[in-house]
Amino acid sequence: MPEDDIEGYVHSIETAGTVDGPGLRYVVFLSGCPLRCLYCHNPDTRRKKQGKLTRASTLITEMAHYRDFLLRTGGGVTLSGGEPLAQPAFATALLQEAKGLGLSTALDTSGFLGERADAALLNATDLVLLDIKSFDPDTYLRVTGVDLSPTIAFAERLGRLHKPMWIRCVLVPGLTDDEPTFERLATFLAHLPSVERIEVLPFHKMGEPKWKDLGLTYTLTSTPPPTPEQTERVRAIFRAKGLTIV
Ligand code: SF4
Repeated sequence: MPEDDIEGYVHSIETAGTVDGPGLRYVVFLSGCPLRCLYCHNPDTRRKKQGKLTRASTLITEMAHYRDFLLRTGGGVTLSGGEPLAQPAFATALLQEAKGLGLSTALDTSGFLGERADAALLNATDLVLLDIKSFDPDTYLRVTGVDLSPTIAFAERLGRLHKPMWIRCVLVPGLTDDEPTFERLATFLAHLPSVERIEVLPFHKMGEPKWKDLGLTYTLTSTPPPTPEQTERVRAIFRAKGLTIV
């Protein structure tokens, strides 16, 4: 084991993820997250110690095993969670080693801990998957339990660095569905030079059983998913500003 082999808390691994960046992805879900999103699909990743203490070298050996397969699909490695920036040194080590293997790298984050992403971490990150859970500060606080401003500051910083971003928004009827707010978000994003695409994700309740298993109160039981028409209206708001929707 190298002297600088760092350890971090890992919730789980997905070896062929299809939704967290281009191609097939080796996705490392790190545990620990300061947000408390009402619709969180992974409430079992909230606390760092809910994960398993894992050496970076163990993960890097496994990444190397999948390297050729990932490269053939134009894929790479994604750090997700939980919140990967809750463990910035570990995240940096994994991203740097993945780059060393010739793999593309992505960071899936809420941006709330964006200040912890230093130059070394961002230099080793090809793409940021940035979740903006609402562009309205009060709604953001209600949905996540934390302030919106660090996420916006992080998006602006990534824009200044021309770091490619894919923006994700979850559309929750009655909670994050205010269309004028989406208009303002679209205007903001259209002015950032490195936003490559926007994903509007319809709310679903697949995480609800986990909340119950953990003895947590899930408050969105009676919230329906958005209709296809509602989702399309929101997507059209972004398209109208020249943004690419997928
Ligand atoms: S940021 Fe992600 S992991 Fe954290 S509470 Fe929100 S949905 Fe869950």
